[in-house]
Amino acid sequence: MKKLTALLLGTAMVLGLAACGGSASTASSEAASSEAASSEETSEAASSEAASESANAAELTTVTAGKLTMSTNAAFPPYEMTADDGSFEGIDIEVAAAIADKLGLELQVDDMDFDAALLAAQNGKSDMVMAGVTVTDERQKVMDFSDTYAEGIQSVIVPEDSDIASVDDLAGKTIGTQRGTTGYIYCTDDFGEDSVVAYDNGLTAVQALNNGQVDAVVIDNAPAKEFVAANTGLKILDTAYAQEDYAIGVAKGNTALLDAINGALEELQADGTLQSIVDKYIKAE
Ligand code: GLN
Repeated sequence: MKKLTALLLGTAMVLGLAACGGSASTASSEAASSEAASSEETSEAASSEAASESANAAELTTVTAGKLTMSTNAAFPPYEMTADDGSFEGIDIEVAAAIADKLGLELQVDDMDFDAALLAAQNGKSDMVMAGVTVTDERQKVMDFSDTYAEGIQSVIVPEDSDIASVDDLAGKTIGTQRGTTGYIYCTDDFGEDSVVAYDNGLTAVQALNNGQVDAVVIDNAPAKEFVAANTGLKILDTAYAQEDYAIGVAKGNTALLDAINGALEELQADGTLQSIVDKYIKAE
């Protein structure tokens, strides 16, 4: 019960904060200047704060002027994948395009390995990483995250005739994961590094499972479903390994961009755009 209350409170806070974020710039600069008028001591600090806030609202500094550069790993269907014509598509791509549109920027997608996509945002080489990225305590130490826009589940894929029926049965087996993902982190923590093989992406991990090089693959549920549908003889265990939240990562301290992203996300959620993008790629069961 205690946990549930905390959870609900947490959600209310997130929504409350997001609601403030949306229309903050004029309201807060007004507040700051009236504060400045009423108190001589703080007047300088308050008015310079107000000035910098409106400058941020007027123009965001991005990696490439006029563009919103997103690093991703476009081998993670249905969140990001490469179409036959070489263009990028998926939930993250469309949500990112809608955010860019709201910010008056053009979306630029940079495709790379998942761990590199995280690093790019962390080091300010991209404006943001959007790659079905799970929010974790470790990652929060090195980058900032937007409000959550989707939920993820770590699932276990096994051959149909496997004797692995639960997460516990993974003990003593060889597990395939994607390098740098939460699946890799959980499995190495729980079963030791020697039991886990890290592949460049989900597809190569699933190919290794098909070839009998690993006994199971631990990966996010949405791509797991796509990979299992595209390969005969595989199934997903009913029990989930972990429940997660996806968010957009930006360089630590880039609050102007983070606020802008959260404001855009909130509007996309409120007007149903976010849900319609998800519904386009994930059919209700
Ligand atoms: N959600 C997982 C993570 O953040 C995997 C994401 C991915 O492979 N694109 O680690």
